[in-house]
Amino acid sequence: MKRVAIVGASLAGVRAAQELRAQGYDGGIVLIGDEPHLPYDRPPLSKAFLAGTASRESLELLDAGDLASLALDFRLGVRATALEPAARRVLLSDGTSVHADGVVIATGGRARRLPGFERAFVLRTLDDALALRAALVPGVRVVIVGAGFIGAEVASTCRSLGLDVVVLEALPAPLAPVLGPELAAVCARLHAEHGTELRCGVPVTGLEAAGVRLADGSLVAADVVVTGVGMAPATEWLAGSGLTVGNGVHTDAGLVTSLPQVVAVGDVARYAGQRHEHWTNASEQAPVAVANLLAGHTARTYTPSGYVWSDQYSGTLQLAGHPHPEDTLSYVDGAPSSSSFVATFSRDGVTVGVFAWNNAKLFNRLRRQALHRPESQPVVQG
Ligand SMILES: Cc1cc2nc3c(=O)[nH]c(=O)nc-3n(C[C@H](O)[C@H](O)[C@H](O)COP(=O)(O)OP(=O)(O)OC[C@H]3O[C@@H](n4cnc5c(N)ncnc54)[C@H](O)[C@@H]3O)c2cc1C
Repeated sequence: MKRVAIVGASLAGVRAAQELRAQGYDGGIVLIGDEPHLPYDRPPLSKAFLAGTASRESLELLDAGDLASLALDFRLGVRATALEPAARRVLLSDGTSVHADGVVIATGGRARRLPGFERAFVLRTLDDALALRAALVPGVRVVIVGAGFIGAEVASTCRSLGLDVVVLEALPAPLAPVLGPELAAVCARLHAEHGTELRCGVPVTGLEAAGVRLADGSLVAADVVVTGVGMAPATEWLAGSGLTVGNGVHTDAGLVTSLPQVVAVGDVARYAGQRHEHWTNASEQAPVAVANLLAGHTARTYTPSGYVWSDQYSGTLQLAGHPHPEDTLSYVDGAPSSSSFVATFSRDGVTVGVFAWNNAKLFNRLRRQALHRPESQPVVQG
């Protein structure tokens, strides 16, 4: 393989480039990204960077040493517009193309926009964060639509800036489909304890000059409106490529698409029917995808750790495994009403998840001991 094109210059793309070199690949690597910036880390965008306590430089995913040793051919500020597998080409928005023997799809996703909320702020990119940060001036009243991880983090950052915050959530409780009702109640309590007004169970219907209109007809006054309602995988450029897309790029259990020379990683990869939108997943997939790309077939499968963290109101929530909301929750340390606790999720007597609020030490121990996580499996041929 003489040249690999990585499309998407963020976490998953960078990790793929690092893995290519770590696994001995010494050919060309072209890293294509439609944002004008060098690769940066997204989690601080809703936390310290939004609060103004982390610098732009601290977000960089690659330092000068990495840039020198990886020898990447960057194409930044240009969008991949098509993949032509037969010609082994990626077409770019500036009219040029990149010939590549192997392609890593790492295009992540874009913030979903609610119809009628086109003027609202979203938070996915550095430019989104800069625009939102500029709007968070003293005295503004912020309304956040969506109480998922990003909505909750933006709310807590806004409270740390002393702003009035209302969070609107269509579900009966925040994050209930992920954490189940008991832990959802903990998340709701956190908002209340820190002065954020949380209104659940009423969908929004539109954005007006004075604020956000709810389905019950009421208006929630707002100076700044942020929608945090998830992301949509960036797959539009793959139309006509022959690859199967639909809620992400479909791959096998080894992150290999229907073409052996094309793999997908990170938020955009829908492997064996699953897709995750978390930092650790995007980082952990690269070694497996790259090994399979270099092998020319699916030699290994990917096993996710299901690790997620979220920083809210000076605390840290951690989750590992793949629990369902209906799994049995048991408190191992502390109580849900306390400032720190650890719980496990079990199904049919087997621990399937670990949750912690402000207790990383016990969380890490339980995660290692109680959660069975098979290593990436070699695929036995024949
Ligand atoms: C504000 C925020 C806070 C977060 N906090 C946490 C956290 O606390 N914990 C956690 O576990 N996870 C967190 N995440 C999630 C984590 O950041 C993502 O899972 C991770 O960024 C995924 O990386 P990725 O490289 O797959 O995709 P992305 O980071 O989305 O990167 C994809 C890149 O590809 C580019 N691209 C898209 N289409 C094209 C194209 N056609 N041509 C060229 N380039 C293209 C995009 O512009 C983007 O730069 C957070 C995410 C956000 C937005």
